[in-house]
Parts: sequence; structure tokens; C-alpha cells
Amino acid sequence: MIPMVNLKAQYAEIKAEIEAGFAETLDNCFFILGPNVQAFEKEAAAYLGVNHAIACASGTDALHLALLAEGIGPGDEVITSAFTFIATAEAIKYVGATPVFADIDAKSFNITPESVAKVLTSKTKAIMPVHLFGQPADIPGLSAICAQHGLKLIEDCAQSFGATINGKQTGSFGDAAGFSFFPSKNLGCYGDGGLVTTSSDESAAKIKQYRNHGSKERYYHDVIGYNSRLDELQAVVLRAKLKRIDQYNAARRHAAHLYSELLAGLPLTTPYEDDAGVHVYHQYTLLSDRREEIMAALQAQQIASAVYYPVPLHQQKVFQDDCANLSLPVTEAVAAQCFSLPICSSISDETVTRIATVIRNVLSA
Ligand SMILES: *Cc1c(COP(=O)(O)O)cnc(C)c1O
Repeated sequence: MIPMVNLKAQYAEIKAEIEAGFAETLDNCFFILGPNVQAFEKEAAAYLGVNHAIACASGTDALHLALLAEGIGPGDEVITSAFTFIATAEAIKYVGATPVFADIDAKSFNITPESVAKVLTSKTKAIMPVHLFGQPADIPGLSAICAQHGLKLIEDCAQSFGATINGKQTGSFGDAAGFSFFPSKNLGCYGDGGLVTTSSDESAAKIKQYRNHGSKERYYHDVIGYNSRLDELQAVVLRAKLKRIDQYNAARRHAAHLYSELLAGLPLTTPYEDDAGVHVYHQYTLLSDRREEIMAALQAQQIASAVYYPVPLHQQKVFQDDCANLSLPVTEAVAAQCFSLPICSSISDETVTRIATVIRNVLSA
């Protein structure tokens, strides 16, 4: 079976380094917020070009902590995408705010300044774009709206570690940003993990306080916080992989470009890249009105494929009250046609070619 992501091949390359780091951590018995977490936070901040990178327990928590630190709460509206993983909107709900869904662009699959402008109200407090599938959202355009209306910009970078816009990293533009280190993400650990970035000292202090039971000083608690910390073993994995992230993302881009070359001319839509943004292909996602047929043919050849995301958030049961009668035509059309192919840093040209050939055979039959 060709899986969506082959983590075993990646592990084989870094096994010695990770096992040495694990052994050292186990010998030290310093497991929570220890030296590896501190070092990783410094290294990630330097890589991302931000003043502060604060590790936490998951990407979902990272978004939650970012919203808390930016003071988003009950009565506030946060504009985001309905074409994303549920966690984006869950984080908004956790702080008592209301997610307001803007439609997406058919090419980038991201919310746009135009679609956001249509749903702005006097209650809007923040815009939370998702750099979906590793494709940067139009941050210059969205930042301009935030500046004009006094809104916070909070980036969901769960799928975009290493993606850039005009040479600057996603996660360095907003007031704050959340990253996920779920194992299959571009930078993934071996369990759950996340990171909040910000360049504000004030926000950073709040994020650190909220992630650690509301305390700045041990056993003194000023606010109700959370237990949301990254552990040392995960930090060992992340430090080893952060050193190689550019190489990993380059390999994903290489595979994506090969797919697009091999699938050119067929009646399907291959991913779009704009001039400013460097797409890091967390997913390689196509549009086709013959998706079921293509996916069945791949399955018959023991090749995985997946639909991210079959039901947009405004059509989820959990949001039926918030979103009654809401129609997002582009989001709905994309959700009905999208499917993703295997992609990861270790996928070979042979595998990509084999997969593309199966699709070519289906569509030329
Ligand atoms: C994975 C993901 C999250 C949540 O991250 P977890 O680490 O799984 O909590 C949030 N938003 C998006 C877009 C994601 O893909």
C-alpha cells in the first residue's frame, strides 16, 4: 500500500539522532519544559523570524492560546474559512467567540480580502486565515483590512510550516499564529504538539502564562490557565526535524511539481501557485468531477487518496445553529470535487509517476 504519508522512511534517516536525544532525556529525567523545549523555542523563533515561539500541547491549543492572548472572547466575531479542519473553528468557540465563515478562492482554497469584506460586522474582532494545504493565504490583502478596521490577525499555520510570502515565513505576519506538530504535518513530532508565535512581548507573556496554569511564578496564579505544554521527548524530535525542514519542504515541492507535470492536459485542476507565496504542499490537492472514479482506481492499485475536507464547517451538525441558511458556493463546489494524493518528504519520482499514470489511464479511458 502506498500511504498518504510515509513517516517510516523519514524516521529511518534520523533514527540515530532521535534515539540519542531520547536516551539523554531519559537519563536526565527532565521531561516538561526542559532544555530541549527551550532550545527548540529559540531555534523555531529564529527560523520563523519572530520574537517569540512558545511550544504547547497541540495545534488546536496553539490557536486557542493565541486567541486568548489577543483578548478575543464572548460577543466577538472571528472571520475564518469553512474549508479547513474543525480545530480552526473549535479554538474560536473555546474562547466564547463566534466563527464567521467567509467563502474561499477557487484556486488557492483560502479566504480572500474580498470574501472577508463581505462578512465584516461591527462585532468582528479578528481574522483567522488558514494557509490551507501549505498554500499561503493573501496576507498582504488581509493585513490591510485588519489595519483599516483595527482587527487582530491570527494565522492558522498548522499546515504551513516553512511556507513564505515574499520571502517571509507564514506565522510571522499576524499578531499571533498557531502551528501544529501532529505527526503528519510538514514539521511533525511523534505525538501531539503545537507552537504559538508572536512578536509582541505582551502577548508572549500571556501565552506562557495561559499554557502553564495561569502562573508567571510557580504556585502564584493570576488567571485560570491550562495545562498545555510540549514535552522534552517531542522537542527532541522537533529539533532534529527543524534542521531538515527546508529539505523536507523542497522534496514535497519537487513531488508536487512532478505530479502537476505528469497530470497536465487532463480534465482536472492541479494546484495553483502564485508569485508571492511559496506553497509547501502539506497536501497535493486536485479538483475533478470524476473524483470517486479516480479514487476507486487508485484504491484498486493499493494507492491511498483522501478527501480533505468532504463537509465544510458551515454544513457540520455542530454549527447548524450558527450557520442556518449560510451558503458558501465556492467552498461547497470545492468540497464536492477535491481529493488529495500521497505526498511527503520521502516520496520517490517512481511512486509519483506510478500514481499519475493510474489517473491518466482513468481519465483517458
Ligand atoms: C491539524 C490542524 C489543526 C489542529 O492541530 P492539532 O495539532 O491536531 O491540534 C488546526 N488547524 C488546521 C488547519 C489543521 O490542519
